[in-house]
Amino acid sequence: MIFNNVDFDTYFKQYPDKNGYFGKYGGAYIEPELKKAMQEIRDAYFTICKSSKFVSELRRIRKEFQGRPTPISYLERLSSTLGNGVQLYVKREDLNHTGAHKLNHCMGEALLAKFMGKKKVIAETGAGQHGVALATAAAYFGLECDIYMGSVDIEKQAPNVARMKILGANVVEVTHGLKTLKEAVDAAFAAYCKEYKDAIYCIGSVLGPHPFPLMVRDFQSVVGIEAREQFLSMTGELPDAVVACVGGGSNAMGMFSGFLNDPVDIYGVEPLGRGSALGDHAASLKYGEEGIMHGFNSIMLKDENGDPAPVYSVASGLDYPSSGPEHAFLHDLGRVKYDVVDDEETIDAFFTLSRLEGIIPAIESSHAVAYAMKLAKTIEKGSILICLSGRGDKDMDFIINKYGIR
Ligand SMILES: *Cc1c(COP(=O)(O)O)cnc(C)c1O
Repeated sequence: MIFNNVDFDTYFKQYPDKNGYFGKYGGAYIEPELKKAMQEIRDAYFTICKSSKFVSELRRIRKEFQGRPTPISYLERLSSTLGNGVQLYVKREDLNHTGAHKLNHCMGEALLAKFMGKKKVIAETGAGQHGVALATAAAYFGLECDIYMGSVDIEKQAPNVARMKILGANVVEVTHGLKTLKEAVDAAFAAYCKEYKDAIYCIGSVLGPHPFPLMVRDFQSVVGIEAREQFLSMTGELPDAVVACVGGGSNAMGMFSGFLNDPVDIYGVEPLGRGSALGDHAASLKYGEEGIMHGFNSIMLKDENGDPAPVYSVASGLDYPSSGPEHAFLHDLGRVKYDVVDDEETIDAFFTLSRLEGIIPAIESSHAVAYAMKLAKTIEKGSILICLSGRGDKDMDFIINKYGIR
């Protein structure tokens, strides 16, 4: 399929190019000391990860440890309340081990570390979800695991800190600056520069310098490959539309990669939070502009000095001031439409899915559900497949305290 001069039959061979660019987005904007480390990861990725030994080991792990393939569920009661014949389906990444899609790339990254003979994995975490997934992978493979986390987040995310420690990870407190994610990223990168002979850095989404956006997309593509096959065998057709929430963009890229070359409308959903004023949302593709941060060129939200702007979302997994470079590319191309839902619509969808279907979604995933419910009202008939990126157990206390029972 050719769309806007891009040939999607050969898309994955063309993008990213050998320097990690999706059009003008991506690349590797890093300190000289990190160049060698990234080169090593790149070389390892292009040799080891294509080897049949690596691929078959990752397949076995997905089946026997992660519980893949995850099912697709038809949302019968929700579809019938919408009342216009539109049928909603969810890809159940909430049923993946640890309750979200993040383990898909963490197991891949940790397996790569093992094949490279590394002893340790290093990462930062904000809300703690990436830290927990990586700590799980490290425990499975017997790797050391250092997770950098700001003091403010350590206090806010006590249950995830406990999980990481139980899994044997070393949670390194970052006490400078605002003591949150940005400082944790800086500290983790600094540690990695010193330790790269024995360690690899594991990024939590389709972000960062080349080859991470490529690598994480490839590890997450299992979601879209499974979903396409499953949907075809369940219904005999492809869905008319596919919807996923976009923070950094890994669950969305995994899902979308299965459908880019099909006549399927694709929607990425960003958090509008409290509204469209800078600081009240994290809708980088909708309101942002081109810029470089954290080692890559993409579309980002900037403050008056051109630095990454403060962002907000009710879903802590979506509050990032940029998105992966491939999303910026697909946005400009028009192949994927990016749109927003706000906190209120999201919380409504959270309760609606729980009540009508017996599935408590993560607040991040509730953004995709909310958008699909709106989209369903604008089309006559057809089917919408939603990526349910994770389960809502982690959000219980927050929801009850902030919103009560609706
Ligand atoms: C982290 C997280 C997200 C956002 O990350 P992406 O890279 O955009 O997928 C979405 N949903 C859940 C459940 C998460 O834990």
